[in-house]
This record gives sequence, C-alpha cells and structure tokens, in this order.
Amino acid sequence: MSPIVVIGAGLGGLATAIRLAAAGRDVTIVEAEQVPGGCCGTANTGEYRFDTGPSVLTMPDVLADVFAAAGEDMESVLPLRRLDPYYRLRYHDGSHLDVVPGEDAMIEQVRGLCGAAEADRYRRFRALLGELFAAEWPAFIDRDMTRLRNLARPRVLARLAALGGFRRLESLVESHLTDARLVKAHTFQALYVGLAPRQALGIYAVVAHMDTVGGVFFPRYGGMHAIPQAMAAVAEKAGAQIRYGVRAAKVETGPGGGVCAVRLDTGERLAAGHVVVACDLPRAHAGLLPETAYDWRLRRPRYSPSCLVLHFGLDRRLPGQAHHTLHIGRQWAATFAALKEGRPQPDPNLLVTYPETDGDAAPDGHATLTVLEPTTNLHGANDWDRLTPQLENRLFRRLADLGYGDLTTAPRLTFDPPAWARLGHSAGTPFALDHRFTQTAWFRPSGVARRVPGLHFAGMYTAPGVGVPPVLISGKLAAERVLGTSR
Ligand SMILES: Cc1cc2nc3c(=O)[nH]c(=O)nc-3n(C[C@H](O)[C@H](O)[C@H](O)COP(=O)(O)OP(=O)(O)OC[C@H]3O[C@@H](n4cnc5c(N)ncnc54)[C@H](O)[C@@H]3O)c2cc1C
Repeated sequence: MSPIVVIGAGLGGLATAIRLAAAGRDVTIVEAEQVPGGCCGTANTGEYRFDTGPSVLTMPDVLADVFAAAGEDMESVLPLRRLDPYYRLRYHDGSHLDVVPGEDAMIEQVRGLCGAAEADRYRRFRALLGELFAAEWPAFIDRDMTRLRNLARPRVLARLAALGGFRRLESLVESHLTDARLVKAHTFQALYVGLAPRQALGIYAVVAHMDTVGGVFFPRYGGMHAIPQAMAAVAEKAGAQIRYGVRAAKVETGPGGGVCAVRLDTGERLAAGHVVVACDLPRAHAGLLPETAYDWRLRRPRYSPSCLVLHFGLDRRLPGQAHHTLHIGRQWAATFAALKEGRPQPDPNLLVTYPETDGDAAPDGHATLTVLEPTTNLHGANDWDRLTPQLENRLFRRLADLGYGDLTTAPRLTFDPPAWARLGHSAGTPFALDHRFTQTAWFRPSGVARRVPGLHFAGMYTAPGVGVPPVLISGKLAAERVLGTSR
C-alpha cells in the first residue's frame, strides 16, 4: 500500500488522516504552522489565551464519530460541556431571547418574548427544521458530492422543494414566523454560509437546526483549540506522522499523470501514492498543484465576507454574561447589503464570546472576551490601514454602549482581513467560498482531481462546506474516496 500525504493539519486534514491511519494506511501530515488546527487556532497576549477561530462546537456526534473511527471514546479524549443558554440574542429595542436546550423550555422562551400564538407557530417551525435536516443530512451533507448522480436525485430534490428548501431562507422563515426578532434568530446563520438571509437558500435553515435544536458545546478543558490538539494526538496514536513547521511546495506527478510525491519547502521529497490537499485551494492551485488538477469550479470564485475579531483580556469577570451573545443592530437589511457591496456595514451585528468555563484562559478573577464583526473581504475597495482603526474605534464605542465598559486600554489582539490573508486565506477571508447554489454540493470545488489519479481534496473549500462539522465530514468523504469505500 502506497504512502499517503495529507497537506494541512486543520480539522479537515486531521479528520482525513485519523480515518486513513486507523484503516492501517501509512499517513504523513505536513503542516506549515507549529501547531495543529488551522482556523481552530490559539493565540496569547500576556497571561490571556484565546481561541482564534470557532468559539463553540455544534453536532458533537460528528467529532465523536472521527474519534470512534480510531477506537477512541470522545468522553475520554475530549470531554465536552453543553452550554446553557446555547446563546443569547440581544435586540436593539432592549429585549432578548435565550436559545435554550429542550423543546418545551425553548417554546417557553418564545412565548415569553413573542406571545402564545407565535410560540405555536414556532413549535411547527421547529418541526420543519427537523424535517429539513433529516432530508438533507444523508442525501447532501454526509454524501460524496464528487458524483453528479448523488446530487441529481429527483425524489430527494422533490422532498426538499416541498419543504421549502429552494425558497430563499428569509422568505421561508417569514412564512412560518411573524415576529421579526424570531425571524432574525433563525436567519442570521445565513452569514455562516457567507450570504444574506434574502440570498441564501432555505436548505441552509439546517444551520439553525444544528445550533438552536442540536445544541452548542464547548470542551471542558483547554478551549476550542483542545479539539485539534486531541485530534492530532489520536492521529499520532493511530500511526500517522505529523510534520509541523514544513510547507508542501509541490505535488509531483509521475509518467502516468498520477501523484507520486510531495516536495516540501525544505527540498525534501515525500513519496506518495495518494495526496489529500486540505488547505486553501485557490492558493494551492497557484503553484502547489499540477496544472492538470485545474477545477473549472474555481474559475470565478465568490468568496464569503470576512471578519474583524478583537480578543480582549479583562481584569474582571462579567457575572451573568452568556458564553455567546449576538447583539443585533438596528439596520438589519442594510448591514447585509453593505457586506454584499463590499462596504463597511452601517450597524453590524456583533458576536460576543465570553468563555467563562475555559478555566485557565485568564488569571483568577480575570476573563477573556472576543468580539466578532462581519466585514467585507479584501475584494472590496477598502484601505484597511485606515479602515481597521476606524472599525476598532467604533467597536469600542458600541461595546461601551452595550455595557462592556471601556475596553480601549485592555490587552487585545486584532485579526482583520489583511491578517487573515497573511495567515494564508485567499481574499482575506477565513470562510472560503460562500454557499450560493453554484458553489454548493457538486458545484463546490470537487473532492477529487479526475485527471490526476491519487489527488484528493478535503476542507472548507470542498463539499459540504465551511464550519467545523462540514469540514470533519469532508475529511471522512476524502478518506472513503482514498480507501475506495465511498458511496
Ligand atoms: C473567527 C472564526 C470563527 C469561526 N466560527 C465558527 C463557528 O462558530 N462554528 C463553526 O462550525 N465554524 C466556525 N469557523 C469555521 C471553521 O473554523 C473552519 O471552517 C474550519 O476550521 C476550516 O478547517 P479546514 O481544515 O478546512 O481549513 P484550515 O483550518 O484553514 O486548515 C488548513 C491548514 O493547512 C495548512 N496549510 C496551508 N497551506 C499549507 C501548505 N502548503 N503546506 C502545509 N500546510 C499548509 C494551514 O496552516 C492550516 O493549518 C470559524 C472560523 C473562524 C476563522
């Protein structure tokens, strides 16, 4: 059996490598950074430690499944805590909604905010979310989309159409719910797929199902970066070798056109019968990959918006603050329009993370706070040397107005679109391609290079897409293709 090289120890590459190593294959992962995780990274300032990527985990069973493939029990290698509330939505009119575990408890929250009639509508809408999820998961999400026939399945498509999956997300949700606040609670997730609620398809209501119904989790120890750390440990235990601090420079092909090796930036050559590329694909096509790996789907890439993230070290705690709070601004439609047009948003929705349960992220009595503001990516005509300080100053004022106090002198780390570009993300966005219809499923960059035998792809540029559960699934699908077990 020929050796396999996986390029990138992000969550997609790690998920691939664990499954291949557990199947007895000879696997080497090469990772440019000194730590695993990619987007699910970590950073420090002074005595404060921050998660630089996702701040919560949804669909933990998907991760448990990766560990189980290597015979490991997630409760032993990465115990999780279910958050309660999952998150809090704070509206500009002063009201708030806690998204909580359990159907009855959640219906009570809706009744308290929006009244009995809306609570009844919510109950029916919640059932619809479950039906959409049940129809989509096996057919589109957890399914090899390198084959057109897996997409073009008339009965599944008809079922999704009947459920409203091909309507626009906002109009689908508005046809079930009438309170604008509740509509926002179930459509802001469009941003996770890089689109406005008016633009995203109704099928992406499954994202609201994943977090509002399926729940939101957080590692008991070590924050979110504990996830790639645990995955890297499991990969190594299963026999994979991880090479940190080395960059794959060229995927080499043999006389038959198939992959035969990966050349590293050190000049070293790793022989390979299969290569799984699990990093930024537009950059990989600009030198790392052979020209024969060209994928027409990347001819006119449409990137997701990016984000400005400020991580603060606080010299105090914030009693009563939820782990996750979404502050919804006044100008809902205008914020999404500005993002689409590449302009700064007039009144952005802010995602504030307060990981109080991450015990050793801050000294005793102190805490960390992270604020994420969606921004345009580097394709907008903006001068970021000027724009970033302007946005930071506006954020300081807004956070003070929202009751977080004066954060101007707090220790902080800032990640803006130029910083994401320096970290290796095309267009300065860590959210890859958006999920418009023409970049979804079979239309997303393929998981396999048909003209280069042995060359495979995983990660957020491939199907099912961006986000922790999807990239873990992309790793499973890539491993199955390498092993010849894909459906
Ligand atoms: C701020 C932020 C918030 C997020 N919030 C959430 C959230 O709440 N929920 C959620 O589900 N998802 C969230 N995400 C998205 C999620 O983190 C990503 O979709 C996912 O982690 C991407 O994983 P990946 O393996 O595809 O790519 P990456 O994480 O980008 O990994 C690619 C790896 O390849 C390495 N690499 C690149 N080129 C080379 C080379 N030539 N040689 C060797 N190594 C190379 C890189 O160093 C990197 O480690 C968030 C992301 C960010 C940045």
